[in-house]
Amino acid sequence: LDVIEAAEPTVNAFLHVSGKEALAQADAFDKKLAAGDTEGLPELAGVPIAIKDMIVTKGIPTTAASKILEGWVPPYDATVIEKIKAAGMPILGKTNLDEFAQGSSTEHSAFGNTHNPWDATRVPGGSGGGSASAVGSYEAPLALGTDTGGSIRQPGAFTGTVGVKPTYGGVSRYGAIAMASSLDQIGPCGRTVLDTALLHEVIGGNDRRDSTSIPAPVPPVAAAAREGLKRDLKGVRVGLIKEIGGEGFEAGVAARFNEAVKLLESMGAEVKEVSLPHLPYSLGAYYIIMPSEVSSNLARYDGMRYGLRVMPPAGVPQTSANMMAYTREAGFGDEVKRRIILGTYALSAGYYDAWYGSAQKVRTLVIDDFNKAFEQVDVLVSPTAPSTAFHFGEKTSDPLSMYLGDVATIPANMAGVPAMSIPCGLSDNGMPVGFQFFAPQRHDEAMYKPAAALE
Ligand code: GLN
Repeated sequence: LDVIEAAEPTVNAFLHVSGKEALAQADAFDKKLAAGDTEGLPELAGVPIAIKDMIVTKGIPTTAASKILEGWVPPYDATVIEKIKAAGMPILGKTNLDEFAQGSSTEHSAFGNTHNPWDATRVPGGSGGGSASAVGSYEAPLALGTDTGGSIRQPGAFTGTVGVKPTYGGVSRYGAIAMASSLDQIGPCGRTVLDTALLHEVIGGNDRRDSTSIPAPVPPVAAAAREGLKRDLKGVRVGLIKEIGGEGFEAGVAARFNEAVKLLESMGAEVKEVSLPHLPYSLGAYYIIMPSEVSSNLARYDGMRYGLRVMPPAGVPQTSANMMAYTREAGFGDEVKRRIILGTYALSAGYYDAWYGSAQKVRTLVIDDFNKAFEQVDVLVSPTAPSTAFHFGEKTSDPLSMYLGDVATIPANMAGVPAMSIPCGLSDNGMPVGFQFFAPQRHDEAMYKPAAALE
């Protein structure tokens, strides 16, 4: 808590620090320790954690960095929060993000920017810039994020930390504020691959309250990370994705990526290029499917059920429809409004087949590409993002250039496969570069081994 107090004026990773609650949780854990009552507690018991403010926490304000949820205190815990508490991990607070997790720089938060711990004039990435910066600035050893198109992995790359998007359905989404439900996934952020693996095992597993939860135990990711630390990759087949890289990728990113691939080879991995021909269409299809689901999910913020309510001014009819319109106009930021409008258009009668229907067909082709690729290799690799952390304001006036930065992370969400970013040296500008691994669905352990070996 002292480190947080010292770092926050420059980093601003937290929207809410729950110091009192964290100390009470730590005391409760100390009492258990003193009583020798540690049966069933995981290795991470007693280790504090920061939580992205996209995940609901009973009794602690949860805003999704939106004015429309300002002041809302959830009456229940997300499944992952119940698990964190049962594990004896004190919750330090809630971290900043792009409003409703929509963005790649955390500049779309309604509550101010988070700064990159490596260079305060640069963004921490997004949407989970708060969680990544909290870990990168040593305010928290671990954090939780949500990843719909890269929001755990790209901030990990920008801040020199580890970020994991588990297999879709591998971690319960119950209590994760919905952005695009067919793509959303909660996952761990940490400073090492083994740390994130241990956290993955705490939060993962089946949950009957999430209808898309996989009815199987968490894959053995911690054992795989420990195996990787032996740095022997004989028999591991690594595929370089032909379609990610080249034009548009920063020279320093490409250089560090190629050096890391050489390192994998030097540890015995078999490396070859693999083609996933439909991958380049993922980004376009994502920016149809995601806003469609956003427009539907965000319909619940109607001024009646949660947070903000703005009544129409005098002279305007005091109807419920007008109340909704005034509430949503005042409560949502520009980026969220842009996506609701795009999604509503894509789903409207007459356009549904042309836009949403076509995007879903592309998604199936991307899934087939991954399935075929994983017949040839155990993991796929690419840079996590085309660039390193950019300066504030560089992309906010041009949404399309912001969207293009998600080109390497989105395919994993489209296919539901697990993927992770680990630090991989510094680019020419002195900023961290991210190296990304993808593994087959339900085999998250396959990426933890080479990732731990490489870090
Ligand atoms: N940057 C992506 C977007 O803006 C991903 C967001 C996310 O993963 N939550 O949609």
